[in-house]
Amino acid sequence: MELHLYTAQIGKYKGPDAYDVTVKSGDINFAPTWDIVQAWKAGEINWDTYTQRYRELMLNSYKRNQGAWRELLEKGVLTILCYCRADDDKHCHRYLLADFLIKLGDKIGVAVINEGERPLPVKEMAVVTRDKDYPLLVGPQQNLF
Ligand SMILES: [Zn+2]
Repeated sequence: MELHLYTAQIGKYKGPDAYDVTVKSGDINFAPTWDIVQAWKAGEINWDTYTQRYRELMLNSYKRNQGAWRELLEKGVLTILCYCRADDDKHCHRYLLADFLIKLGDKIGVAVINEGERPLPVKEMAVVTRDKDYPLLVGPQQNLF
């Protein structure tokens, strides 16, 4: 089994595989807690600490609710969304979650392919759509095809 995994900023990608993983408006099985979000925003913890706490949280989430994780890994194509901008130095839990999903997939037999941030640059996206026989993506770029 394979999962093509993308990341995106909320509002930038609205395809059918978009999945909000924020504590504010998304599935909290995969979100950081308000506590860590606020501590990071206030500069009380550094990114290493944030990363460590988020990973612990996700480990516990997986132990508590393996079904939700399995469901996510079995989606085939998935774009995980957060409010952070893509150019924010990768200081966003969506990249940590992507990493976590890759490792978890490895353990439970799902090959997770990290496809990067959406929207893909137009040229790159054209190659992806042609080579992998993807349905065309929803969004402003679709009229280029
Ligand atoms: Zn974020």
